[in-house]
Amino acid sequence: MNSNNKYQTVIGLEIHIQLNTKSKIFSRDSAEYNLLPNTNINEISVGYPGTLPKLNQEVVKDAVMLGLATNSKINKHNEFARKNYFYPDMPKGYQITQFKTPICYEGCLIIKDGNNNDKKINIERIHIEEDSGKSIHKKNNSYIDLNRAGVPLLELVTKPELNTGNEAAKFLSQIRRLVRYLGISTGDMEKGNLRCDANISIRLTGSKNLGVRTEIKNINSFSNTKKAINYEIKRQINELEKNNKIVQETRSFNADTGQTKVMRTKEGENDYRYFPEPDIPPLIISDEFIEKIKKTLTLLPSQLFKKYKELGLSNYDASTIIDNKEIAYYYEKIIVHTNNYKSAANWLMVNIKSYLNENSISINDFKISAKHIAILINLTDNEIVSKSVASKKLFPLMINDPLKTPLDIAKQNNLTQQNDKIQIIALVKLIADRYPEKVKEYKNGRSSLIGFFMGKIMKKTDGNVNAKLVSEILKKYLNNN
Ligand code: ADP
Ligand code: MG
Repeated sequence: MNSNNKYQTVIGLEIHIQLNTKSKIFSRDSAEYNLLPNTNINEISVGYPGTLPKLNQEVVKDAVMLGLATNSKINKHNEFARKNYFYPDMPKGYQITQFKTPICYEGCLIIKDGNNNDKKINIERIHIEEDSGKSIHKKNNSYIDLNRAGVPLLELVTKPELNTGNEAAKFLSQIRRLVRYLGISTGDMEKGNLRCDANISIRLTGSKNLGVRTEIKNINSFSNTKKAINYEIKRQINELEKNNKIVQETRSFNADTGQTKVMRTKEGENDYRYFPEPDIPPLIISDEFIEKIKKTLTLLPSQLFKKYKELGLSNYDASTIIDNKEIAYYYEKIIVHTNNYKSAANWLMVNIKSYLNENSISINDFKISAKHIAILINLTDNEIVSKSVASKKLFPLMINDPLKTPLDIAKQNNLTQQNDKIQIIALVKLIADRYPEKVKEYKNGRSSLIGFFMGKIMKKTDGNVNAKLVSEILKKYLNNN
């Protein structure tokens, strides 16, 4: 057995999703926190004694949405708890969170494993909690900015069921995609709107027992997730190979060195002295409330993927389209007006995407309507405009004049293609007469010269000719004359 399959890696993720609600979780303060320090802080954010928190119902809605989208069960009876710890950015001395009754539990998400097979990852819980403030260290001084204190978070905890850095990154990216589809968070890791702690352990392949884990914190970008996990896997295997024991501890990832190092040995649950939050009454969630939210759920990426596969798209096309909500919704609008699903995918993923990339804009700023793209596709399907003219000439003209219909633009610029057989025969004859030597060679068996004649005809007509007809007529002409 080589060291590649001697060990199995086990990973569980704790993902903090910062919600994009207008106000904070327990007060009227605006939840916007990237402002001048300490501007959005009323007495509740600061945690003055005697103030009473009041739960923002938007947070409950967002949590239930994410729960439904991850096939979770929803707790009808929710209690809040105090998690006690001292840190300057948490002046109350405790964080209000959920402990025994997470709002969502026993969910799951399907990801693709290394062999591109579906793999179900169970989600242990999703609970509601408040964010802390921020400490700012400058030279010899430290400062506290409490703008972020009380911004709502959802914490999603997976079962220890991920087995590689790739799988963990995939899971995280699917969660990011999901919260963006639901519109509950921007999901930007670089801005700290999505944060991920990775718990990692190693065991002998085949063993049923979990190894001792470490928890990696401070992973601040998407690409660093995989790097941090892979570093930690190597480190732990290295330790085990040297017969050293893994110590349960919290480690910090340093993006500059690509390494993890010890922050602290792990606190146990008891260290936090969790106890029921006396200032917030139990949150009761009714079936009606859940049903109402079910009805407002948008089309989710997994549903769209299934639909696109049924429409005949490849795995690659379907997954690229659903990767971005706005792109997927644009595609949805194109296919209202055309049945050529494959062509719609090509236009979107090739022509439109490269235009967006070249101009660094998003699909939301793209001026051509989805309906006009569908009309464009139908023009080529009906052989009114050739495919090459459509992409090289008509499409750029449409960008310049997005309100005019594609057919009008095509007509005004003489872009409609020649479908008239008599005209095409004349054209074929003209070109054949111009190259008698090549005609002879063709007749002597160099059939690849068809491409040469096609090229000349396309050039002569600027591509505005029905290529299929030309090829038919050309072959007939050359064989018979
Ligand atoms: P805590 O809240 O103390 O961090 P939990 O038991 O709630 O610990 O687990 C947190 C995360 O760690 C979960 O995602 C869980 O799946 C994962 N985890 C627990 N044990 C292990 C292990 N031995 N190896 C890898 N991940 C683990
Ligand atoms: Mg933890």
